[in-house]
Amino acid sequence: MMSVVQRISTRKAVVATAAAALVLALVMFIARGDSSKAEAPTPATSVIILSGDGMGIQQRTAIQYALYGLNERQPMDALPYTGFLDTIPAGPIAVTDSAAGATAWAIGQKTINGYTGLPPSKERVPTLLDIAKAQGKTTALINDHDVTNATLASFGGPVIERDWKSVIADKEIYNNKVDILMGGNEAYWYPPGNDGMIPNTNKDGEDDSEGTKGNLVEKAISQGYQYAYDKETVAGLTGPRVLALVQDSAKRRWIETKGYKLGKDPHYVPVVDMVNKALDIADNNPNGFFMAMESDDLDSAGHEHDVRNVIESGKTVNQIVAAVQEYRKTNPNVLLIVTADHETGGMTIEPMGETNTNSDGDDPIPYWSKKPLNNAGPKGEVPIRSGPVTIKGTNRKFKVDWTTGEHTGGMVPVTAVGPNADELVGVHHNTWVFDVAKRALLGQE
Ligand SMILES: [Zn+2]
Repeated sequence: MMSVVQRISTRKAVVATAAAALVLALVMFIARGDSSKAEAPTPATSVIILSGDGMGIQQRTAIQYALYGLNERQPMDALPYTGFLDTIPAGPIAVTDSAAGATAWAIGQKTINGYTGLPPSKERVPTLLDIAKAQGKTTALINDHDVTNATLASFGGPVIERDWKSVIADKEIYNNKVDILMGGNEAYWYPPGNDGMIPNTNKDGEDDSEGTKGNLVEKAISQGYQYAYDKETVAGLTGPRVLALVQDSAKRRWIETKGYKLGKDPHYVPVVDMVNKALDIADNNPNGFFMAMESDDLDSAGHEHDVRNVIESGKTVNQIVAAVQEYRKTNPNVLLIVTADHETGGMTIEPMGETNTNSDGDDPIPYWSKKPLNNAGPKGEVPIRSGPVTIKGTNRKFKVDWTTGEHTGGMVPVTAVGPNADELVGVHHNTWVFDVAKRALLGQE
């Protein structure tokens, strides 16, 4: 026979259990109610590697100060896990190019500058994109510049010479390897004499078609790719396979080309719009996705000693991170890694009043100006492309200086969120990105 105390405690337990069940039912009900709005997150994991090409610590800091000020943390730096990656390639040279830098992420091996997606032995090994494809995941390569450039080619177009653009393009669509290809430079997709869909704006022939593998747009369409070339056609894409060749490096063009207004160019599609479209399409695949994307303009801006365009390109990187974080609200199984293949330009934040080193950028810009606005004057006068830059929300200004028109060899920051992101904390070889991303793609802890 139960004592009174026992009876009371039993009754309490029954009440507690009933209450717990009710709470559980309520939670499940709310969860179900929620998922009727957005589709339930897939258990499959997805991976996004976002590169700010040439984005070292100083670039990240300049972007933070100019766009977000001293208090609000910029989206790419607000990710919960942070580490550092070395960038040194294989071979005799101490400083990497973009090909060897991205190949380290793509295949987990250091390689020779100029190789995309291939180790020093040149033997073909699976890239992260291959691994994702074998898992039935959707694959995507997205760029604000050339979609066949070295960074993206390291995932989708393994070759020993990064300048074999049409070969890379052909590999990207071979056997429908890359489901979603979005970016610039249609010139490598059309043969000479076929101007493609985007009007040539440069009189120097820079836009002229120079494809060496025939009409690759036609080939892609015959393989089932939807083709887009401007805002409207990109908006109309439904997938599962798409090729969008839009205005190449429109932000750079805007700074360099007299009279060009990117806001009025129907062929300019902001990268974040392409990323959102890619997420929309990939969302239909329950197996998840792998995407590699970058702002190549950031690197060009470093080569050209143009801090304004570094900041403009940083805006793009932050917009992409914000878009992915929005997507992750309903699909948390996405690992997002934000990093750089190397730093470009030896850029340094300095106080106003100091002179600038006489280190010339790659090209005098803008081309139409009487004197270049990106190179220091004879007495170290600060060129206007190096500042002043106002720190948002303050009266404080800085300018930047540069040591080289080329890449530098320091470590680069990496920030991350999502499955396995914590493994990026610490100092690692850049090949570590491959190890972490591969485990995430395979759903391994
Ligand atoms: Zn690079």
